[in-house]
Amino acid sequence: MHAPRPEDNARPEVVYLDNNATTRVAPEVFEAMVPFLTEYYGNPSSAYRFGKLVQGHVMEAREKIAGLLGCTPKEIIFTSCGTESDNMAIWSALQTSGKRHVVTTQVEHSAIMNQTEMLERMGFGVTRLPVQGDGTLLLSDVENAIRDDTGVVSIMWANNETGVLFPVEEIASLCKRKGVLFHTDAVQTPGKIDLRHVAKSDIDFLSMSGHKLHAPKGVGVLYVKRRTKVVPYVIGGGQERGKRGGTENVASIVGLGRAAELALQTLADEQSRVRAMRDLFEEMLLQRLPYLYINGKRDQRLPNTSNIAFDFVEAEAVLMKLDHAGICASSGSACTTGSLDPSHVLSAMGMTPARARSCVRFSFSHYNTEADIDLALAIIPPMIEGLRAMSPLGPEHTDNFNYDVTAAREKEEKLMAATMAAINE
Ligand code: PLP
Repeated sequence: MHAPRPEDNARPEVVYLDNNATTRVAPEVFEAMVPFLTEYYGNPSSAYRFGKLVQGHVMEAREKIAGLLGCTPKEIIFTSCGTESDNMAIWSALQTSGKRHVVTTQVEHSAIMNQTEMLERMGFGVTRLPVQGDGTLLLSDVENAIRDDTGVVSIMWANNETGVLFPVEEIASLCKRKGVLFHTDAVQTPGKIDLRHVAKSDIDFLSMSGHKLHAPKGVGVLYVKRRTKVVPYVIGGGQERGKRGGTENVASIVGLGRAAELALQTLADEQSRVRAMRDLFEEMLLQRLPYLYINGKRDQRLPNTSNIAFDFVEAEAVLMKLDHAGICASSGSACTTGSLDPSHVLSAMGMTPARARSCVRFSFSHYNTEADIDLALAIIPPMIEGLRAMSPLGPEHTDNFNYDVTAAREKEEKLMAATMAAINE
């Protein structure tokens, strides 16, 4: 058995509506990268001209990324991904502050969720703030959670599942007043919202990831504000001015630099045309289908994200049918093998497991066209009607009223445990 090779099958024609999962590499980005995989393969740390030349291009990319954040190139550290940037920021803040408590939210990406769980096992304290029904966060909750031993507050800028935005610049100022370092996971934001004021804000650390802004997978950035202390998380050579060991992923860094330039150029399109397409998509679905809920208020979300509850159907069934129709979207659920747990983000918003499991995320990019939206709108309403017609659930089902979330979870967990026990027997 081998994994399917590109030449085994013609690439399926897809309508890609899952741009929060990853994005296509922009042709301009690919073009910028190629010479660094073929001709200019020198090590940027080498002393001879062949290395120095490559180093110059890494520096140029650093300048371009600094342009995206309105900061200086010295404030940019290249990493291997968004996850590493997140992990580094939190670890570094705890090391340099010498403190042992982290404030974060219940809706972070697993890069933060799993790291803070690990920190708890190591004896650190973690406070995970709740969110409101619309996915927003109360500033007063952040303020009340900060303790004398808090080393870092880490709160994402935009949620990857719902697109809901948090007021991170306000939170950063609050943290500064309290003398606590602030990190934001901004992986979902570049090219979607304007970040050029970051350096003027009180944000100490900000994480980005190449593959969310039309650069390749496997390259990330950690912005560290001038004068904020930082220690390496990946320990090795003296690369990145001693802040991140490991030979630079030159081609991807060059690609990310080009992608940062393009992100600035396409920002207006993302905020107008992509937003209009997303809004039209939501409006048309609301008109055509009953029992449909859009998660998160429109003006408090990224312009490209729709997370929609299709009551009385399972998102997994919707996604399978969409896949057959050539449409890529994803469910909000954690979707770990053997787990029936609904998404931690939607659960934190107070959604019942049944509704959370009916949610599908559609995320657009400036490569999407009106024809993509038309196709999705032609396919989705009859598909949902068909699935609902087969579903035992419906508006009259008793589970819809006075739904006991805790009892439902317990029942599901027992059922799952019994299933797993039977499988393992
Ligand atoms: N943070 C958020 C909000 C994300 O959406 C992702 C990717 O899905 C990450 C972090 C992790 O980024 P990477 O895949 O580059 O490790």
